[in-house]
Amino acid sequence: MTTADRLSLLLAEDDPALGPLIAELLEPDYRVRLAVNGQEALHLGLTQPWDVMVIDRGLPVMDGISVIAALRTKGIATPILVLTALGATNEKVRGLDAGANDYVAKPFDAGELAARLRALTRTFPSPAGPVSIGTWEFDPASRSVRSAYGDLVTLAAKEAELLEALAAEPARVFTRDELLAAHFQSTDQPGVIDTYVHHLRRKISRTVIRTVHGVGYQIGDAS
Ligand code: CA
Repeated sequence: MTTADRLSLLLAEDDPALGPLIAELLEPDYRVRLAVNGQEALHLGLTQPWDVMVIDRGLPVMDGISVIAALRTKGIATPILVLTALGATNEKVRGLDAGANDYVAKPFDAGELAARLRALTRTFPSPAGPVSIGTWEFDPASRSVRSAYGDLVTLAAKEAELLEALAAEPARVFTRDELLAAHFQSTDQPGVIDTYVHHLRRKISRTVIRTVHGVGYQIGDAS
């Protein structure tokens, strides 16, 4: 993995031996920033974006549970793993209730910590929610497009797929060839894109897709 690929990880651990050890353990997979007290962890958690956080339960100045609760109150949704003392079930519960996503008991197994962090940072393709196209609302899951007046249009699967691709990157102009390669059979001709654009304009609005002459297509405003 190159440096650019690594996820950013905020580690709050006050133990002068354990902190650097955990950081070193995680460095191959994460860009680790070590905070040595709760106040520093809260400050870094609020002021910089992180992919994941590991927060020790017992921290000086501000304890880990309070740090997590404060981050959640401020709307920070980053996955957090809390490190707790072995066997302190009530503390695990408190940590999870305060907004942590998982916990690992100390002394912990390095392999388990790494696996739990992978689980916390794993992303799955999620069904896309509705997308606004001008005053229209497009729901890719149901392949339906609804106007501000409540008119409902249902799209064919390929029409919806094409519209979803264009709407996902509204600033981008797509060429016929790239749309063809990504969404149609290799045997299809670029003209098939024009056909689907024609269908979409007829069904929704003439302006739902913009022709960029000499380049290709871009999502429009559907007004
Ligand atoms: Ca501690």
